[in-house]
Amino acid sequence: MLDPDKKPDTAAPKVSFVSLGCPKALVDSERIVTRLRAEGYELSREHAGSDLVIVNTCGFLDSAKAESLAAIGSALKENGKVIVTGCMGAEPENISAAYPQVLAITGPQQYESVVDAVHKALPPMHDPFLDLVPPEGIKLTPRHYAYLKISEGCDNRCSFCIIPRLRGDLVSRPAGDVMREAEKLVTAGVKELLVISQDTSAYGVDIKYASSQWRGKDLRAKFIDLSAALGELRVWVRLHYVYPYPHVDEVIPLMAERKILPYLDIPFQHAAPDVLKRMKRPAAQEKTLERIARWREICPDLTLRSTFIVGFPGETDADFDYLLQWLEEAALDRVGCFKYEPVRGAAANDLAAAVPDDVKEDRWHRFMQAQQKISTRRLKRKVGTRQQVIIDSAGPTVSKGRSMADAPEIDGAVYVASRRPLRVGEIATVKIERADEYDLHGTAVGF
Ligand code: SF4
Repeated sequence: MLDPDKKPDTAAPKVSFVSLGCPKALVDSERIVTRLRAEGYELSREHAGSDLVIVNTCGFLDSAKAESLAAIGSALKENGKVIVTGCMGAEPENISAAYPQVLAITGPQQYESVVDAVHKALPPMHDPFLDLVPPEGIKLTPRHYAYLKISEGCDNRCSFCIIPRLRGDLVSRPAGDVMREAEKLVTAGVKELLVISQDTSAYGVDIKYASSQWRGKDLRAKFIDLSAALGELRVWVRLHYVYPYPHVDEVIPLMAERKILPYLDIPFQHAAPDVLKRMKRPAAQEKTLERIARWREICPDLTLRSTFIVGFPGETDADFDYLLQWLEEAALDRVGCFKYEPVRGAAANDLAAAVPDDVKEDRWHRFMQAQQKISTRRLKRKVGTRQQVIIDSAGPTVSKGRSMADAPEIDGAVYVASRRPLRVGEIATVKIERADEYDLHGTAVGF
């Protein structure tokens, strides 16, 4: 019989974890960490004093690779026993050349191999008291929001991107599985689900939209069906990495009805037809400005966030001017912009002449200035309105949160003054009194 007062005889093996890269990599990290925790490993934030370090790397851009290599270097220095996984693991020779002493290298989504490598280097200790793990798994995000990964890989072949080579073709999860995970998260207190993948709008294409069971009914693995089902969970549901395919129109009414958040993260990357063609972007031929106008007619407070690349090989002055003009008309709310970086192995590098660095720099500044004015204008429209705000960090008189228009990490914040202290994860109604360049400021008027 188990003695509840019995303490483990020896300390649990301790693993320190570094998670680099995008939210998709973070979800991979959460899976690995959940599995290890379930097997009785203890997690630590400190390399020193841990028995082993796992570094989940990002290999998207050369700068990300450099950051990953630096993280491996410090883990080796501070601890000495290091296992590497993630996108950079798809090209293990780069890691072993720099750090031959790394214990094991596994690629993206190879959860089993990482765990096997950990078992080899640091066998698990079996103890029923340590094997307990919360049913929603271990989240690396704060408790009130969580990323929900609906598929792995990507069927597109954007010429600047090596992700399909690193992560393979699209593999969608059955809709029932996704919904069960979402439900567990909500039961555990998650108030906001951030739907992620490489191409959310392509969800289910690879499995021919196969149905699976959820709450005793068939649910198709289809973008619109999954969005509607998630909308039934009565939490905030935010869609990331959506491409403007025609079927995306179908989710806009769900946003207007507030079943899911009126927020779309669409990485447009450019607007000039020639550049888009060379980029081989999905849904690039769709008339996006007209679509955006129609979406806003149906859902006037729709927030659009996007990212762009300037200085793509062969981008002319005319292409860039076209982009600025498009930006003005599209009036997107939140925008990120990157200067093109020739990622090793990306087809784009050989498509046309590289844009000189000083031209890239100049275009980036002009782009950011133009968008800054648009974003500020869009944000000012909120002054005087009431917004629902989810609290991310609570302060004695002013707390920091986000409105429906702000995704964590990438968008702005709302600073909320309040008569009573607010709790993290609480959603308050806030009267917006002021806007600055990126953020809003207001007072809580309803709880
Ligand atoms: S959609 Fe394009 S940029 Fe995104 S992962 Fe797929 S190939 Fe890469």
